[in-house]
Amino acid sequence: MANVYLTGAGPGDMELLTLKALRVIQTADVIIYDRLANPNILEKAKNGCEFVYVGKEDGRHIMPQDDINETIYQSSLKYENVVRLKGGDPFVFGRGGEEAAYLQERGVKFEIIPGITSAISVPAYAGIPVTHRGVAVSFRVVTAHESPNKKESQIPWENFKTDDTIVFLMGLHNLPKIAKKLIEIGKDVNYPCAVISKGTTPEQTVIVGTLQDIVEKAKDAPTPALIVVGKVVELREQLNWFK
Ligand code: SAH
Repeated sequence: MANVYLTGAGPGDMELLTLKALRVIQTADVIIYDRLANPNILEKAKNGCEFVYVGKEDGRHIMPQDDINETIYQSSLKYENVVRLKGGDPFVFGRGGEEAAYLQERGVKFEIIPGITSAISVPAYAGIPVTHRGVAVSFRVVTAHESPNKKESQIPWENFKTDDTIVFLMGLHNLPKIAKKLIEIGKDVNYPCAVISKGTTPEQTVIVGTLQDIVEKAKDAPTPALIVVGKVVELREQLNWFK
C-alpha cells in the first residue's frame, strides 16, 4: 500500500527543510509540488522520480483543489512513495487537511510532515519576533484572502484591538482594506506594520510603515508577501540581521 507524505517545504530558504522532509523527498517515486516550494528541493530527489506541478499562487489555484486531491490519490495507486510538497507548513492555510481527508476517505495511508511556516519564519528573517516580552504576548495568523468588506467576512476584526501581533497571509491585494479596517476598529494611524516579500530568500524585501502609509509604500511589493501588524515591527531596527 502506498504512503503519501503531506510534506512542508518551509518558507523558501532550502536549509529550513526538516530532516524528515529531506528523507522522504530522497526516496519519493513522485513529488507533487506547489509554486511556493523552493524548486531546488526537487534536485534532492532520486533519479527517475516524477515531478507533478500543481502550481498554487496566492490562493489562485492553477489546478482546482479537487483535481489536486484526485492527482494525489491517483499517484498513490501508481507509486509506493508519494510526496505532496507544500510551501511552509501543510496545515497552515495549505489545505493539507482537505488533502489528508480525501486520502483517508479512500483508505490511503498518509503521514503529515510539518514544515516551518512562513508566518513565523519570514518575520524572523526580517528581524521581527512575533512575540516579545512586554510588547506582544500572542500572535494571530490570519488569512486575508477574503475581502474584509464582504458582509459574511469570517475575520474577527473586533478582536484585533489589542497589541497582539497579527500576521496576514495571502493579503497583499487586500492591504488597503486591511489598513482601513484596522484604523476603523480604533488602531492609531501611526500603528507599525511591515510587508515582507519573498522572505527567507536572497530576494527578500521588507517595507516598514504605518497603517497610514503602508499602502502607498508597498504598492509595488512583489509576491509572495505577508503583512505583519504590531509593535513588534519596531524591534526590526535593533534585530535586523538578514542582509
Ligand atoms: N502553508 C504556507 C502558507 C500558504 S498561504 C505556510 O505555512 O507558510 C500562502 C501565503 O503565505 C502567501 O500568500 C504569503 O502571504 C505567505 N508566504 C509564503 N511564503 C512566503 C515568503 N517566502 N515570503 C512572504 N510570504 C510568504
